[in-house]
Amino acid sequence: MKILVINAGSSSLKYQLIDMEGETVEAKGQVERIGIEGTHFKQKVADKVIDYERNMKDHVEAIEAVMAALTDAEKGAIKSMDEISAVGHRVLHGGETFKESVLVTEETMKGMKELVPLGPLHMPANLMGIESCQKVMPNTPNVAVFDTAFHQTMPPKAFLYAIPYDYYKRLKIRRYGFHGTSHRYVASIVPDMLGKKPEDCKFVICHLGNGSSLSAIKGGKCVDTSMGLTPLEGVIMGSRSGDLDPAVLECIMENDHITDIHEMLNILNKKSGLAGLSGLSSDMRDVRGASEKGDPMAITTMEAWGYRIRKYIGAYAAAMGGLDAIVLTAGIGENDAVARSYVIQDLEFLGAKLDPKKNVTGASGVISTDDSTCKVIVVATNEELPIARDTKAIVEAL
Ligand code: ADP
Repeated sequence: MKILVINAGSSSLKYQLIDMEGETVEAKGQVERIGIEGTHFKQKVADKVIDYERNMKDHVEAIEAVMAALTDAEKGAIKSMDEISAVGHRVLHGGETFKESVLVTEETMKGMKELVPLGPLHMPANLMGIESCQKVMPNTPNVAVFDTAFHQTMPPKAFLYAIPYDYYKRLKIRRYGFHGTSHRYVASIVPDMLGKKPEDCKFVICHLGNGSSLSAIKGGKCVDTSMGLTPLEGVIMGSRSGDLDPAVLECIMENDHITDIHEMLNILNKKSGLAGLSGLSSDMRDVRGASEKGDPMAITTMEAWGYRIRKYIGAYAAAMGGLDAIVLTAGIGENDAVARSYVIQDLEFLGAKLDPKKNVTGASGVISTDDSTCKVIVVATNEELPIARDTKAIVEAL
């Protein structure tokens, strides 16, 4: 069975074709600048590459281009569209409606449309991805997999904001959390690495990429996570501020005569975090590189970045009443040994101490000292595979 996994953004679309037999990626590609001059298409099938620029006005044209590339006689991966059994879509927000993945039907589509106000930046694009597939491949079932679903096990004490309760009842304002497929995938692997049953484990997963979030996993379930109503809350990210006093908004807006809240949120989403603090870049490689050359602001940025994550780890150890492991994943967590050392320091009181010989580029598995009672583990995440697995399970049950 072959499953197409799609992650549709407002002007982009990433995809993977996964053969579920051996869970292997048969094709991988992306379309960028959809609806903008100079649409860029790129697909890789083993060492065969299709790479071109051609304006595409919308996601329907982009999906048509994906189908043409996948079935390309020379550089494609399949002979006909009919070989694709189903499409799994990454959908940002499931609200409280969708606690797990669902088959796309008229009813579930209606439910997803009702959630657009909770994710106004991403949801319209995600839904456009689904509708485009329905147009181009009308006989192929679609499944929606939600970034928020894994965190739906959080108890009210963790997900409620201390604002008038009416906002929760009326508008569903609460903490939801994101990166759910990554946290779920990693959470499923860690217990075996610890040699324990999931119900006996307490660990923190640090998904550290451009967007970053932590989750506290107790008994196999998420009991807390750092992102909130939107992905803006939590730790310092590539270009997002993470936590801050909401009154900062009023202060900046009044002083700099900003009248549009969207402009203000754009500063917090796109111009803050590593980029805003260092003044250099949102990319960890640039900031860490500058810190190694002695740039004082880059060093302070690295310290603030690691410190915030460390505070969350401490908070989650307290929330769970103990900690068996700290798990590092995603672009930074998997690849950057120096950045990891900014996170894992002063945590000996929790039993976690980095082993510098194990914490090197390319490391995976346990990177803490042998006597650490709380292990530090590097795990490669996979955000597409859980989408493909859910899609397969749902269409097989039809
Ligand atoms: P996202 O999926 O959120 O866009 P990623 O998980 O790809 O992000 O992570 C991007 C971050 O990971 C960047 O800050 C980048 O510097 C860092 N990163 C990615 N690859 C490497 C690498 N090989 N070495 C060091 N850092 C890396």
